[in-house]
Amino acid sequence: MTDNSVSSQVPGIALPVAVLVGAGPGDPNLITLAGVAMLAQAKVVIYDALANKRLLIHCPPDTEYIFVGKRAQEHTLSQDQINTLLVEKCRELMAQRQHFGRFVVRLKGGDPYVFGRGGEEGQVLSEAKIPFTVIPGITAGIAGPAYAGIPVTHRNFTSTVTFITGHQQENESDKPALSDSGDVGANVDYSALAKLGGTLVFYMGVKTLPDITQRLITAGMATNTPAAVVRMATHPEQQTVIGQLGTISALVKQANIQAPAITIIGQVVTMRKQLNWFENRPLFGQTVLVTRTRQQAGELSRQLEALGAKVIEAPTIEIVQPADPQAAHAAISKMNDYDCVVFTSANGVRATWAAMQDLKMDARDFAAAVGAIGPATAAALQTLGITPEIVGEEAIGEQLAAALMDYFGSATDRTDHQDLDLSGIEFLLLRAEIARPALVNMLRNAGAEVDDVPVYQTRMAKVLPVEATTALGNGTINWLTFTSATTAKNLHAMLSADLREAVKHCHRLSIGPMTTKALCDLGWPPTVEAQRHDIPGMVEMLLRHIHGH
Ligand code: SAH
Repeated sequence: MTDNSVSSQVPGIALPVAVLVGAGPGDPNLITLAGVAMLAQAKVVIYDALANKRLLIHCPPDTEYIFVGKRAQEHTLSQDQINTLLVEKCRELMAQRQHFGRFVVRLKGGDPYVFGRGGEEGQVLSEAKIPFTVIPGITAGIAGPAYAGIPVTHRNFTSTVTFITGHQQENESDKPALSDSGDVGANVDYSALAKLGGTLVFYMGVKTLPDITQRLITAGMATNTPAAVVRMATHPEQQTVIGQLGTISALVKQANIQAPAITIIGQVVTMRKQLNWFENRPLFGQTVLVTRTRQQAGELSRQLEALGAKVIEAPTIEIVQPADPQAAHAAISKMNDYDCVVFTSANGVRATWAAMQDLKMDARDFAAAVGAIGPATAAALQTLGITPEIVGEEAIGEQLAAALMDYFGSATDRTDHQDLDLSGIEFLLLRAEIARPALVNMLRNAGAEVDDVPVYQTRMAKVLPVEATTALGNGTINWLTFTSATTAKNLHAMLSADLREAVKHCHRLSIGPMTTKALCDLGWPPTVEAQRHDIPGMVEMLLRHIHGH
């Protein structure tokens, strides 16, 4: 085909243009390395509702995203329209001379070939003579049970597992995804399933669950066969209902379980008593609002998520250039002339590094001793390959001043910092536009020469993400975390009166005394304050508070 010869660097050889990628069951970490590599080369991504949108962060900036899943109040594409779109996008890409190494990625929830109509899309591509590849994914029918503490096979219970759609093919006019209507599969032989036993895993079977269970019972399966339904498996919102074949559909109705959910029937369900790791994580079920800057939120969010919390980021602060970027550049370009360069935040480290790159400087320019106010700032330096000589223990200015005096001081009496002499020692402080004066004052009082240079400034973010304001309004937030007085003040300034009131009904976690004071002034006294004034200290306090230690 003429199209194919365009797709190839070598005439006559067709290179893949499309790829069907399994996105995994929901948790964005449950995609394969090959899947991520494909997203990193995507020119177009056509994705469903069940593929986690967070996976799109792997794509290059010029990728076109096309959502074809079902979403409330939005027109959805039929499977035929999806097929046509897929072929069209591939042809567009193939028509471009330089498309080699870029792909049209069809990103599908779970595994593309398990109840996902991936087979049909493959056929369409094949008929259109569009070369494609397939990257399998972790299917919900295996991951869902695993995250609910249910292994789909176990030597003591079963040597078979059967995957079944609870949704009748003929009635299924469009995509599978979240859609969960229609009748129970008429072409499924329920008496064979009842006879086989083992583990039965049903996809798309929430609405039809009463019918499915009735058919199995009628076919002779014991009503006391253990059964489970797992909704939103592998997500922080995962919900599991446990019962028996005879009771499960009533229990599911009672719990108001909606799609997407997986149903598991078989003795393996009893293993959950021992193996329920995911829902037993210490912060499972907690929704936490993180108010840090986007750049800084990551660490706190990751730690909370790893412990099972659902995290919503609501950056209240943006980091921008200092008022006088020239002065910052001038100071940074001469940093080797100082005895010690001091950082009082990870932001300061990042801003300085960015400026150094503009100035064509690199890590070798850190010839002076380096001081960091605390572990987080030290860690930011470490990522650049720089190990600070002096690190404050608790990220408090006074403590860093004391540590610097210990390091440089030449007094005889080392037990009293006041007596230390720093005369002749030159410090360069690279920090925020507005900073507490304690550190500078202490160093100057000890005789040091201090150049105090702002390398960035923070300002209030323009808007909060809709997800954050909606969750606050709905009352679904359990905790708000405040990592500085500014995050507290800004959040207050950014919220409507109603939402300010809503914050009062949530728990509030403060990083330390200054933040606590700001929160109290705003009428939002913290539920607890971290004992150690850093991110690990906050996480530890949250765990202690929730688990009563
Ligand atoms: N290709 C997908 C399945 C698509 S069919 C896969 O391999 O997983 C859609 C059905 O998958 C849903 O109705 C539901 O039964 C199941 N499903 C997908 N993701 C799920 C999740 N995170 N939790 C529970 N069920 C899920």
